[in-house]
Amino acid sequence: MSNWESAMIDADRNKDWRERLKASISHIKWSESLQPIVDKIMTNIQLDVEDGCVLFETNNLNELGHLANLHKIAMFGNHAYFNSNVHINQTNICVLACRFCAFRRGPKASDAYAMSIETYLSELKKFSSFVNEVHSVGGLHPEWDVDHYCDLFRKVKEVHPHISIKALTAVEIKHLSQVSSLSIKDTLLKLRDAGLTSLPGGGAEILDDDVRQIICNGKESSQEYLDIHETAHAIGLPSNCTMLFGTIETAKQRVEHMIQLRDLAARTKGFQCFVPYPFLPDSTRLPMAQLSTGQEILRVIAISRIMLDSIPHIKAYRMNIGDSMAELALQYGADDIDGTVKQESIMHLAGSKTPLDYGVNQLAKLVTRSGNIPVKRNTIYTEFEEFVPAKQPRRLPVV
Ligand code: SF4
Repeated sequence: MSNWESAMIDADRNKDWRERLKASISHIKWSESLQPIVDKIMTNIQLDVEDGCVLFETNNLNELGHLANLHKIAMFGNHAYFNSNVHINQTNICVLACRFCAFRRGPKASDAYAMSIETYLSELKKFSSFVNEVHSVGGLHPEWDVDHYCDLFRKVKEVHPHISIKALTAVEIKHLSQVSSLSIKDTLLKLRDAGLTSLPGGGAEILDDDVRQIICNGKESSQEYLDIHETAHAIGLPSNCTMLFGTIETAKQRVEHMIQLRDLAARTKGFQCFVPYPFLPDSTRLPMAQLSTGQEILRVIAISRIMLDSIPHIKAYRMNIGDSMAELALQYGADDIDGTVKQESIMHLAGSKTPLDYGVNQLAKLVTRSGNIPVKRNTIYTEFEEFVPAKQPRRLPVV
């Protein structure tokens, strides 16, 4: 087993990945639709919206996946990353009502909840001996302000100093700044000083305000999402970014979404990971959603890898796409899967059946089955450790 560290900006990515990629793609005979894209990659020309749309239209998914996987191999070899974390969704009470959301409740709903700091800590205590990250997102509680979260984060760090806090999506940050009458920057500074490590990427949905108006009216605008992440990066809080696909967006809107994130990442170097995930329809209010097939999920993963050269990691978010699809995604350009998780409501209420009781050995096995070497990482992708799954006792032959 080996340990190593990297600067967050590269997050373990090979510095010479472009040259490695060129060496691996130059001798392959590509189809007529992909060859012009490969030619651009060979001459360091960044792909544009039109190229992204060609990738969405290309017929040969396996060829697309191969190109994406060669990107991944050039960047990370056969490493694939995971972490040991727990999700705690602190409240489902929300002042908004996004149409794709199966999780939120009004304050008077019989199953509405808002964890006290004590309850949150006792939940975390159940897992703290074997996780190093807590991932917390929730509804926009009408009364909780930034001081509530600062108290919570201080307590978490006091009791569990080894645990990194990845919490609060961009819309939660915006809501806290409004409830607390603070600027976005001052809100983030207070949270950072209280112990917040990084921001998850949730809430990007599709960065197109016409789409947002229909699927998540009242949420932060596309520009606000980008500005909040830019402000976080500027004060030393790295973040992830996401894309919810399979609602009502077009392929072009997906590509434009990716390019906005790619441009911000190129400026700030603060995005660690892109997490694309399909809309799950259970208990939601979007009957017109197009939904995504397995092929579409793999296509989006592959295109993310090819388009997003300024964001190091692409995550196969197994909480949403399931373990079988996550295993395949690790061969279609993804290099990262979500961690042990242990409990999760947002995707499961919308229909996810992904198991929640995984330990690191099971995760490592999933990675190994995909043909990769499992590497355990920390929250901010600066510490890595190759992980060798414990040997299982051999089964006795049946006689
Ligand atoms: S997605 Fe978030 S902001 Fe929208 S309703 Fe659900 S909990 Fe509230």
